[in-house]
Amino acid sequence: MDALENNTVPSTPLNRRPIMKPNSQGLKQRPSHDTEREFGGTLGALCIPILLPLTVMFLICVSRSPEASLLQWPPALPSTDQLWNPLALVLLLGWISLHALLYVLPLGKVSEGLVLRNGTRLKYPINGFHSLCISGVLLMLLLGLGAPLGSLFELLLPLAACAIAGSYLFSLYLYIRSFWVPSHALALGGNTGNPLYDFFIGRELNPRIGNFDLKYFCELRPGLIGWVVINLGMLMKEVELRGSPSLAMILVNSFQLLYVADALWNEEAVLTTMDIVHDGFGFMLVFGDLAWVPFTYGMQAAFLVVHPQALSSLGAAAIIALNGIGYYVFRKSNSQKNQFRRDPTHPSVARLETIATATGKRLLVSGWWGLVRHPNYLGDLLMALAWSLPCGFSHLLPYFYVIYFAVLLIHREDRDERQCRAKYGLAWDTYCQRVPYRIFPYVY
Ligand code: NDP
Repeated sequence: MDALENNTVPSTPLNRRPIMKPNSQGLKQRPSHDTEREFGGTLGALCIPILLPLTVMFLICVSRSPEASLLQWPPALPSTDQLWNPLALVLLLGWISLHALLYVLPLGKVSEGLVLRNGTRLKYPINGFHSLCISGVLLMLLLGLGAPLGSLFELLLPLAACAIAGSYLFSLYLYIRSFWVPSHALALGGNTGNPLYDFFIGRELNPRIGNFDLKYFCELRPGLIGWVVINLGMLMKEVELRGSPSLAMILVNSFQLLYVADALWNEEAVLTTMDIVHDGFGFMLVFGDLAWVPFTYGMQAAFLVVHPQALSSLGAAAIIALNGIGYYVFRKSNSQKNQFRRDPTHPSVARLETIATATGKRLLVSGWWGLVRHPNYLGDLLMALAWSLPCGFSHLLPYFYVIYFAVLLIHREDRDERQCRAKYGLAWDTYCQRVPYRIFPYVY
């Protein structure tokens, strides 16, 4: 698995990629205290954990208000009695326990992660797709027994409040336990000595309880699968209110289910992402995985419950085509690079034009990676747009995800460029001359 280079999973909203310098054995050295700080350093670490949870609450409140206006003043925020419901806590704990149980079931294969700084490799169960399927079967059984899944609409605020409170508590636990691990188990960049920043960015690289990897578990399971369950809850609420699900709701549910299923089908790829390889597990990832993704990425479905949209068959066909094109570009480009990094002699990539770099690795300059320098981001953004379009053009709120995501990917692309330039030097400049556009052909 060491040659796996693909990062095809939806990552968390705040993740970032620190540049690290390999030592002579190719392993990473760690200074006693890291000085590099990201996300505005201490100020960012103070503000982001306050502002982003408020944003989650704000978006949920706005999505169900009749105006659904992001510019509403004073901003729509919940009252304290809307935030607490013991059932939400029970559901959340039950959901996480179910996924912890599915994680430890001996299903699927076991893969090794990349080599750690101490020369060892950790083992990870690749059974996220099994978890998705089993969750699906259980939900269908519950629905068959008459479980009121549409009640998730009413429970959304208390569920989000519990997820946010849980993220703070869990991050505190992770921060405290990180003082008992050996220094090679700490993340580069997560050990500045500033408690606020280290709590936010994450100190320990791979916190585990026995063989149970807490970061890997949170990356793609409770939050990502929770997102599609919440979507299904919104669909069932629509059925309660209007007798049947709307075409717009069916499209949003199907598109996002495809995205989540794809991420879990390709779960092994997460083992080479920065989230797993470099980032510590702190509030940034915990909150992103457990609160931000499930409660903001499906905002379109929550919006549609209160703001039904009529969608013509022609409009639906155009949106399905857009999502299909986006998915095709996203999957093909990610798979092409993955295949190339795993085995450049494989017949599917052997004939592609490449350029050499001083590191010994080559860069693709034809195929998808000859179209733009980040074709996978292009595909992802086309899909994000297709998720918003079923909600019509009357409100900005359903477009929150695609706008936020465009900003995230443009910023991420810029960081990746800087790292690639540092890694590949002149060869990277040659690649940029050969492939001048970053994400959108002839635009950007
Ligand atoms: P990428 O898959 O885009 O990987 C970037 C790396 O690919 C570079 O650092 C370089 O690494 C290699 N590379 C770049 N150009 C070439 C080339 N021409 N030939 C060969 N290798 C090249 O990384 P991301 O993790 O940013 O994105 C993965 C996927 O995850 C994307 O589809 C993205 O859209 C998605 N994503 C989703 C998010 C969400 O919240 N939904 C958030 C973030 C990402 P090297 O040379 O070292 O191999």
